[in-house]
Amino acid sequence: MNILVINCGSSSAKFQLFDIDTGKVLAKGNAERIGIGNSKLTYKPDGGEAVVIEQDMPDHKVAVKMILDALVNAEYGVIASVDEITAVGHRVLHAGKYYSESVIVNDDVKRVIRECFPLGPLHNPANLIGIEACESVLPAGTPQVAVFDTAFHQTMPPKAFMYALPYEYYEKYDIRRYGFHGTSHRYVSKRTAEFLGKDPKDLKIITCHLGNGSSFAAVDGGKCVDTSMGLTPLAGICMGTRTGDIDPAIVPFIMQKEGLTPEEMDTLLNKKSGVMGISGVSSDFRDLAKAAGEGNERAQLALDMFAYQGKKIIGSFAAAMGGVDVIVFTAGIGENTDTMRAAMTDDLEFLGVKVDPELNMGLRGKEAVISTADSKVTVCVIPTNEELAIAQETEALVR
Ligand code: ADP
Repeated sequence: MNILVINCGSSSAKFQLFDIDTGKVLAKGNAERIGIGNSKLTYKPDGGEAVVIEQDMPDHKVAVKMILDALVNAEYGVIASVDEITAVGHRVLHAGKYYSESVIVNDDVKRVIRECFPLGPLHNPANLIGIEACESVLPAGTPQVAVFDTAFHQTMPPKAFMYALPYEYYEKYDIRRYGFHGTSHRYVSKRTAEFLGKDPKDLKIITCHLGNGSSFAAVDGGKCVDTSMGLTPLAGICMGTRTGDIDPAIVPFIMQKEGLTPEEMDTLLNKKSGVMGISGVSSDFRDLAKAAGEGNERAQLALDMFAYQGKKIIGSFAAAMGGVDVIVFTAGIGENTDTMRAAMTDDLEFLGVKVDPELNMGLRGKEAVISTADSKVTVCVIPTNEELAIAQETEALVR
């Protein structure tokens, strides 16, 4: 069974076509600059050379049509006809309070995605456009599945998801913690249990998704009970360019001092802060490590802050669950950076966490346990694969 996975942004559409029975990616690529001129489609078939097709893509419908044409192309295509695509799985940012699982798209689902536009103003409209583009271009009746970034976190209890604002703002505007990276936290926590040969029901897991955006989830018995991101992905640990948690009073303070509009303040918090803002060097952790190694103190400070804030979240989630059995690292930094994994778990022996420096050192991008044999808490690395997770959830729904 072939499943097409699509992740639509406002001017882009990333895709992967999976043969879900083998888990193999048949082809993948990205349509860029949709609707803004100079658009191009980069397409790479499995085992073949990448092809770049420069052609005007005024809207997402044209982009999806070009992706499908590439997939069936006589020279570099990987399927004979679009009928061989059984279903499409769409990454959708926000389902608000409405869905805790992936769903097959119908009019009601589209209404919910639309209703959540204010909660995900940059992503949800693009995600819906992607769904509608696929509906109009693929054979009628091809199921479209929405896989939401927020869904996995919907099992959080109110004491974890409410903010201590006047209650009316929850009622009027649905302001609460939602959490993101849910597809990754769900996939990684499930895969961790499989990898360790345990039943998820018997495990208290803290999943640490450390990438450009970073978030943590407390997963007790297979269900998310707390997470570090909030109403938006700005909350929690400091990130590449996002502040993470700060004293909210800082926001009006800077706005008044600098005479900033809400939009300008939003940009400052999301795009100019985080480890980039602290270091003045880069948002990329490889650049930071290099600069810190060369003696740049602010780059070192940014790395220290990231490790320290992550450690505090791990400690608080262990307290929230009344213990922790497994800490799992994933995404770009979690999978590849031994020094950050070590720094974030350093001094946690009181919690029963002992990382083995030899198992940790140099480990990149593969499933492994990195804690010592006598560590009460198992620490491991499990690479995330959000596209495969979306394909699997899509398959499960349409089978
Ligand atoms: P995104 O949130 O954009 O998917 P990723 O999960 O790819 O981000 O993570 C990006 C971060 O991971 C960057 O800060 C980068 O430095 C780090 N990273 C990615 N790959 C590696 C690697 N091979 N070695 C060290 N760090 C890496």
